[in-house]
Amino acid sequence: MDRSELYDFLCGIIDDYSEETNLCNIHENEEGLTVCNGDIVGCCEGCNHLGYYGCKVECLGCKLYACYSIQKKDPVFKDLSNALKIVAKKYNLVDMRTSKEGLFKGGVAESG
Ligand code: SF4
Ligand code: SF4
Repeated sequence: MDRSELYDFLCGIIDDYSEETNLCNIHENEEGLTVCNGDIVGCCEGCNHLGYYGCKVECLGCKLYACYSIQKKDPVFKDLSNALKIVAKKYNLVDMRTSKEGLFKGGVAESG
């Protein structure tokens, strides 16, 4: 497995888990705002990759480093993501707010 395949593989593990558990519970509220677990989607605020329907790119760093409330609410996710972080860091696959393409081009964060 090369780095690109490993990146996709790790994203897939988190995606499967998030889908199964509805981890962030992202949905539109009565006022038409996109919210997660009752609040505005805080971790993505101000990010250039945030689109009308959520994140427009695949970002392993963001998937692994979910907010503190998720880490607290879901200890299984915490353990899973901590284990995957070790692998992701070893192969230099973690960069927050950066698409896979951006990371593989140079690893510079693309948006604030
Ligand atoms: S890159 Fe990260 S911070 Fe930006 S929209 Fe996607 S998940 Fe949110
Ligand atoms: S990680 Fe936290 S702040 Fe980000 S979308 Fe999920 S619940 Fe919301």
